[in-house]
Amino acid sequence: MTSAPPSSFTHELGQLKAVCLDVDDTLMDGPRASRRALRELLGTDRAWPVWERVTDDYYGRYVNNELRFDVMCVERTKAFFAAFGEQIDYTEAARREDLRMAAMQRGWGLFDDARPCLDWLRDSGLRLAVITNAPSAYQRKKIAAVGLADVFDVLVISGEVGVAKPDPRIFRTACDALGLSPGEVAHVGDRLDTDARGAASAGLHGIWLNRDGAPAAADVPTITSLHELPEMLVADLPAIPAVPELIR
Ligand SMILES: [Mg+2]
Repeated sequence: MTSAPPSSFTHELGQLKAVCLDVDDTLMDGPRASRRALRELLGTDRAWPVWERVTDDYYGRYVNNELRFDVMCVERTKAFFAAFGEQIDYTEAARREDLRMAAMQRGWGLFDDARPCLDWLRDSGLRLAVITNAPSAYQRKKIAAVGLADVFDVLVISGEVGVAKPDPRIFRTACDALGLSPGEVAHVGDRLDTDARGAASAGLHGIWLNRDGAPAAADVPTITSLHELPEMLVADLPAIPAVPELIR
């Protein structure tokens, strides 16, 4: 399903020169790797909803500069076990987090729709960038691990530029690095406020990737899979070649 984009969006898409993408849960299947890591650590993933809740809380603290990333990871694991009544000290939490992180990194991978979409965007002559909220070394390692090290013209990582989505400055940093105006750039990501609305507030074309079937948002163009992105972009872009059969 592709929701109808607002008329101003459709009108301006003819100027599109580049597409920025979020990494986690947009290109990379983070939940699959993270869930698998939990299963390796505990022998079961029944506690997954608790892990997701604790992660939302603690990752937000990292993005807001309340916790350093490595400290956040350990504190998150400590809080996760505390949620089940097990109080562990920082050293034990760090040991368990090391095991979990290693297991997760072994499971890092792309969603099935990521590579065909990136190939199409590249073949269409659009420039590509990443805009991601994460520490520098960690995110660069992740991008390389899934074979995307040479795919992007620009990587904008919050840990390097000092501001995080949805701050408009991170989106403008990407546009500046691409040498384009915000109206020539689209940004696609799985978080409605952080990605789609954040990009729109900076003057880019914000597109929401609603993978989980969350309630619709009327104010931003929405896709439910990256397979739908080419069709949305060609709707008003005659210069871009037709969508190839393989990703229809
Ligand atoms: Mg994301």
